[in-house]
Amino acid sequence: MNTKDLPGFATKAIHAGEEPDFRSGATGDVVVPIHLSTTFAREKVGLPTAGYEYTRSLNPTRKALESKLAALENADHGLAFSSGLAAETVLLTALLKSGDHIVAFDDLYGGSKRLFNNIFNKYDIRVTFVDASDASLVEKAITPQTRLIWIESPSNPLLKICDIAAISRISAAQGLILVVDNTFLSPYFQKPLGLGADIVVHSSTKYIGGHSDVLGGALLLNHSGYYEKLQYHQNAIGAVLSPFDSYLTLRGVKTLALRMEQHQKNALDIAKYLLKHPRIKRVIYPGLDNHPQHALAKAQASGYGGVLSFEINGNQSDAEVFLEKLRVFALAESLGGVESLVELPAVMTHSSVPPEIREQVGISDTLIRVSVGIEDVDDLIADLKQALA
Ligand SMILES: *Cc1c(COP(=O)(O)O)cnc(C)c1O
Repeated sequence: MNTKDLPGFATKAIHAGEEPDFRSGATGDVVVPIHLSTTFAREKVGLPTAGYEYTRSLNPTRKALESKLAALENADHGLAFSSGLAAETVLLTALLKSGDHIVAFDDLYGGSKRLFNNIFNKYDIRVTFVDASDASLVEKAITPQTRLIWIESPSNPLLKICDIAAISRISAAQGLILVVDNTFLSPYFQKPLGLGADIVVHSSTKYIGGHSDVLGGALLLNHSGYYEKLQYHQNAIGAVLSPFDSYLTLRGVKTLALRMEQHQKNALDIAKYLLKHPRIKRVIYPGLDNHPQHALAKAQASGYGGVLSFEINGNQSDAEVFLEKLRVFALAESLGGVESLVELPAVMTHSSVPPEIREQVGISDTLIRVSVGIEDVDDLIADLKQALA
C-alpha cells in the first residue's frame, strides 16, 4: 500500500513515508528505525546497493520524514533541514544569484528578515518589504531584477492574512517563484501549493514537531527542476536534519491533526473570553468575526490556528506584571508546542525592530502574543483571569 496518495490527512500523517518493509530480510517495523549510520556499505564499487552512500546526502530516517511532510502538503518533493532558517538559507542560495531581488512581506518572521537583510545582502541580494496583505503592493514592488516573492500567512504577531491565490497569479504572470512560509497554520489547515505557491517553507520546530523538543525545517514543492537544485544545495551546504531529530519530528507529526484541532478550539475560547474582559483593549485572532480579513482567512484555509494576540489596557509595566503572574502559560518565545506560551513582542521576539517601526505597524508595548497549547481550556482561562485581576 502506498499511503502517500490516500486522501485523509491524519492517515497520511501516521503512515506516509513509514510503510512497513516486507522485502526479504526486512523486519516490518511499523515505525521507521533511527538509522544512525553516517555511511552505507555497498556490495559493488559502482553503485550504492540500497541507494544510500553518506548521511548528509541521504539518510533513510530523514527520507521517511521528507516523504511524510511532502505527502501532508500534497507535494511531490520534500527536504528536511536542521532548522527553519537552514531550510531558508538553502532555498535562497539554490535559487538566487547576486543581483537578484526579492519582494517580501513586511510582517515576516524576524529571523527571515535578518537572514535577508544581514546575510544575503552581503551577496548583493536585495529585498523590498511591503504590506503583502494588500496584493497590489506586491505587484507594484516587482522590478526587472525580481526573482522571488516571499510571504507568510497569517503573520506574526499581528495575524494579517495574505491572499495567496491572488499573489500567486501576480507571481506566475511575471515568471517569479512564490514562497509561502506555512509554519503558523501547518499543512493541516492550509495548503499553499494548492493555492498556486511554488515552494512551502516550514519551521518544523513549531506545530509539525509540536512538543518544543526538536528544531527543524522543511521545503516542500512540486517543481522537479527546483527540487534538484535544492537537493544539490542541501548536500553541498550540509545543514541537514539529524536521524534522531528526524525521528522526533516523525513522532510528533503523527498527532498533528488532533493537536491543531485542539489548539484552535482553545484559541477561539480564549479569544472570546478576552474579548469580553474589561482590561483588554483589543484581541487579534483570524477566527473572530471582527478580524478585518476573517472572510479571506476562512476562504483560503480550513482553520485559523492556535496563535492570537491581544493588547491590555495600561502601559508596558502593566503588561509585564500580568505576564509574570501567569502560572500555566510559560513566558517564552516560540510557538506551536503542546504547552501554552506567552510573550511580549516589543521586548522579546520583536525587540530588534526599531520602536517607531513597531508603532507604525501596530506592535505596541502592551501587545501580547499567545501560542495557545492543548491543556484544558478551563485551566488556561482561570490562569488568565487571576493574572488579569
Ligand atoms: C520559527 C520560525 C522560523 C524559523 O525557524 P527555526 O526552526 O527557528 O530556524 C521561520 N518562520 C516562522 C514563521 C517561524 O515561526
